[in-house]
Amino acid sequence: MDCVFCKIVSGEISSHKIYEDEHALAFLDIHPVRPGHTLVISKEHFENMSDATDKAVGHLAVLSKKLGKAIVKGTDAEAYNVSVNNGKAAGQVVPHIHFHVIPRASSDRLQSWPHADYPEGEAETVAKVIKEHME
Ligand code: AMP
Repeated sequence: MDCVFCKIVSGEISSHKIYEDEHALAFLDIHPVRPGHTLVISKEHFENMSDATDKAVGHLAVLSKKLGKAIVKGTDAEAYNVSVNNGKAAGQVVPHIHFHVIPRASSDRLQSWPHADYPEGEAETVAKVIKEHME
């Protein structure tokens, strides 16, 4: 399969590996937001969270927590973000599930996404329709 992260799993493409087990791999992002920015991926190819098994998603979440703690202890980071882009419109460029673990510091000036307010009554409708589609 022509997938850059599958090639990292197979060793065809090299990476700066931080962690590996039977099901997952963690390595440095080649274009880090800040030094220490790590990607946690499943060895099995799933496109994103929506088509991955719950077990795979759970494992990557737990590993992201462990990586985040190690990044804070081992670098000058004070905190970390765990972020997953699911789908092109959400900014996913590599279609192989990966959790970004991003070191943060109060001085880094990174901005979060913008926030808005709901028009009167819309929050109720949006909450209802999402609730109806929960599986
Ligand atoms: P996303 O936009 O969520 O799909 O993020 C994909 C990430 O993969 C980007 O932050 C890239 O810098 C990173 N990336 C792409 N190719 C490689 C590679 N060969 N080694 C490490 N990181 C990579």
